[in-house]
Amino acid sequence: MEFSNEYGLSAAFSTVTKNFFFQWATFTKEDGAVIVQKDKRSLAKHMLEGTVYAELNKANEEIQTAMRITQPNFFVPFDRSGINPFQQRFPITLRLEGTVRGNGGINLVNDTCATKVPGLFAAGDAATREFVAGGTTGGGSINASWAMTSGRISGKAAALYTHSIGEFGNKRIFFEERGRFEPSTGKSLDAIGITRALQNEVIPFEKNLFRTEEKLQNSMRILNELWREVHNSSPVSQDPRAIVRTREITSMIATARWMYTSALNRKETRGMHKRDDYPTENKNMQSRLIANGIEDIHIRLSSNRLEEKGILL
Ligand SMILES: Cc1cc2nc3c(=O)[nH]c(=O)nc-3n(C[C@H](O)[C@H](O)[C@H](O)COP(=O)(O)OP(=O)(O)OC[C@H]3O[C@@H](n4cnc5c(N)ncnc54)[C@H](O)[C@@H]3O)c2cc1C
Repeated sequence: MEFSNEYGLSAAFSTVTKNFFFQWATFTKEDGAVIVQKDKRSLAKHMLEGTVYAELNKANEEIQTAMRITQPNFFVPFDRSGINPFQQRFPITLRLEGTVRGNGGINLVNDTCATKVPGLFAAGDAATREFVAGGTTGGGSINASWAMTSGRISGKAAALYTHSIGEFGNKRIFFEERGRFEPSTGKSLDAIGITRALQNEVIPFEKNLFRTEEKLQNSMRILNELWREVHNSSPVSQDPRAIVRTREITSMIATARWMYTSALNRKETRGMHKRDDYPTENKNMQSRLIANGIEDIHIRLSSNRLEEKGILL
């Protein structure tokens, strides 16, 4: 779950992230000085000091045309603002893409995409993607390939499982649910306040891209408070939308707690997980971290190498 802090480059007035296009960019500071180091962390450091600008002035006409044909959504906010990104500089930012382009997800225990829960199989974004993407983003084809292949594998396995249980197929085991709220269990959930407080711990890149023990611990303290608050609250109403909102918030806090607990335990820099207090790779940590638990989270180093387990697809 520590590999869930992918940030994408975007125009400051847009939500569309297209890292690939920025290979044709010249980056500048407010005063026009060119930024030479173009990696995301260097750009982020400049962004902490002031506005950073990009201009896609290295794309020739042929490339410009190809860009517009292949990714027209990138240009919509520019066209609306009357900005020509090939000839005018524009402010940029880094947007957290979290687990969407990161890798954390439900742990798979064998090559049928099975989980530890009998009969439960996971695929695509819901499942861990480290088998195919390692600690880096799976954006730009791996994610989609993983969704299709793991979907096919897990679907077949689920069908075989259902077939295998035969006449017992209608006997279900119910697990205790987290995030189910009874109407009278406390004050109404402050959905907006909790969401903002949560976002404030995971979105800012000064916290999530430049990780340190102190920052992660501080965020965990706040996330644990939010977790308690959600569990002492009830949805504002029994409107299904309010209940869904409550469950979404519970899931976001759970994900953030798994992410930062894993990040605290990975005392090294690897892939997209960057620890300023542990700036290099630690060869003793060439294993996955498995986060376990909802209330109390436990982390263990995966005991076997993926190849030995035979689950490297
Ligand atoms: C902006 C963006 C750009 C991307 N670009 C690329 C790219 O260039 N290359 C690449 O390889 N990948 C890319 N990806 C990632 C890729 O799209 C995903 O990895 C892939 O779509 C995941 O497929 P999935 O089926 O696992 O999940 P999803 O596509 O998210 O499908 C899950 C479905 O489940 C539904 N659902 C959720 N909860 C419930 C419920 N309770 N009951 C019923 N249905 C439910 C959802 O509505 C959704 O339709 C991008 C993703 C985003 C967001």
